[in-house]
Amino acid sequence: MTYTQFSADSTGPSGALGPEWAAELVASVRAVFGGGRTHDLDWRQSQLEGLLRFLTVEEEPLLEAMATDMGKPRVEAWAADIGTTRGEVEHLAGRFRSWARPRRVRLPLAFRPGRGRIDPRPKGVVLVIAPWNYPVQLVIEPLAAALAAGNAAIVKPSELAPATAAVLAGRLPSYVDPEAVRVVEGGVPETTALLEQRFDHIFFTGSTAIGRVVMRAAAEHLTPVTLELGGKSPVVVDRSADLGITARRIVWGKFLNAGQTCIAPDYVLVHNSVRDQLLDRMVREIGSFFGRDPGASGSYARVVNERHLTRLTSLLGGEGSGRVVTGGTVDPGRRYLAPTIVVDPDPDSALMTGEIFGPILPVLGVDDVEEAISFVNSRERPLALYVFTSDEAVRDRVLDATISGGACVNHTLLHVAPSDLPFGGTGPSGMGSYHGRAGFDEFSHHRSVMIRPFRPDVRLMYPPYNALKEKLLRRFL
Ligand code: NAD
Repeated sequence: MTYTQFSADSTGPSGALGPEWAAELVASVRAVFGGGRTHDLDWRQSQLEGLLRFLTVEEEPLLEAMATDMGKPRVEAWAADIGTTRGEVEHLAGRFRSWARPRRVRLPLAFRPGRGRIDPRPKGVVLVIAPWNYPVQLVIEPLAAALAAGNAAIVKPSELAPATAAVLAGRLPSYVDPEAVRVVEGGVPETTALLEQRFDHIFFTGSTAIGRVVMRAAAEHLTPVTLELGGKSPVVVDRSADLGITARRIVWGKFLNAGQTCIAPDYVLVHNSVRDQLLDRMVREIGSFFGRDPGASGSYARVVNERHLTRLTSLLGGEGSGRVVTGGTVDPGRRYLAPTIVVDPDPDSALMTGEIFGPILPVLGVDDVEEAISFVNSRERPLALYVFTSDEAVRDRVLDATISGGACVNHTLLHVAPSDLPFGGTGPSGMGSYHGRAGFDEFSHHRSVMIRPFRPDVRLMYPPYNALKEKLLRRFL
């Protein structure tokens, strides 16, 4: 079978595989999985090495594609999509063999003689659906975990990062087993056609709204899902925080990729006694990062498309959106929205109810940490939570009293990076997790196995039952 590059033109009724392309594609990948080669540890190793080669050899085309798709500054694109992704794939490649080993379990006396163990098994054919904001990382990292666990995979990059999707579809198959890893380019119709098929696991990264669509489709086939979704990640700033460093770290985490990061600080709750100082410092940091005109800075990304720019400008101009402290400038021709801070928005405004996912940072004053906790807990469970404080009691109180997918104290975003820290959401911000061992486990079925000898064959549990058998069972079970 030869590799077919899928695209909006080559799929569907007129495409290479005909109207039933999605069914045919999944059947062909299922046949590869059924043949058993993906279980082999050396095969898995060679796939991970192939991914590393892909990231090295194709680095330049990938960086260029990301610049085309969303004006990603080169350094940001390298760090978040190439460097971090390489680190994760290397981590998996160095460890998956030991994770794949069966784990012996000591059986209780009543079940001896016999042996117990847990075998991590590949799930089968998995579907990975990715968003556009980190268009390499969010395809390759889940794919690597799926391959490390011995699965075959179909990946669907986002149509909103078409240049990057084209590099992935065109080049990736030359570095991995092209029959076991298939890349489908396309948008809603293609994803919908794929979601009608039966997969053994679906790994979705994207918005909470589409997460519901994915989970509904998965329910038809009782397919397990990992949902890496979004939400409004709060930042709590206590009066004990070092305000200069706090401001720098919030501004960095918020305006990286022009705020289009799932765990970007969405809004800030700051102690009223230091609110104005924090605002001043953040405005200064924006100037020091991006200069007087961030539009001219090579370190500041663009909004991905016109639709999102319109959405963001209407949030900014919407009722109760607060006072603009800095930014607010829009240049639709360049899909530019300046790094923007607003203060005192109405908590019920559109700005404060939906995920912002762009370079607008609302700041609200609170009288104490308990008010901040109540505010966070009155809303949906966020993907990330940030707290800035030098007071350990405040830190522990905020961590204990809130629930979020992940948390980072005195910095933003960084908790996503180390492979040993599982990454995922909770409630509307997602379910399941990955990175490192968590990803291997997510794509594995942990099969419990008990192995018994034929003899002795104790008849205690077999009928006919009697009082003595019951007495003995009660004693030994
Ligand atoms: P999205 O949900 O619009 O799209 C994600 C994927 O789903 C794309 O591949 C798209 O083609 C597909 N899709 C879109 N509509 C669909 C439909 N009706 N039926 C089937 N498939 C459909 O998300 P996006 O705009 O690409 O990304 C932004 C969102 O992703 C934000 O909410 C952000 O917080 C979230 N996100 C989460 C993480 C995470 O790791 N938790 C990472 C990045 C982004």
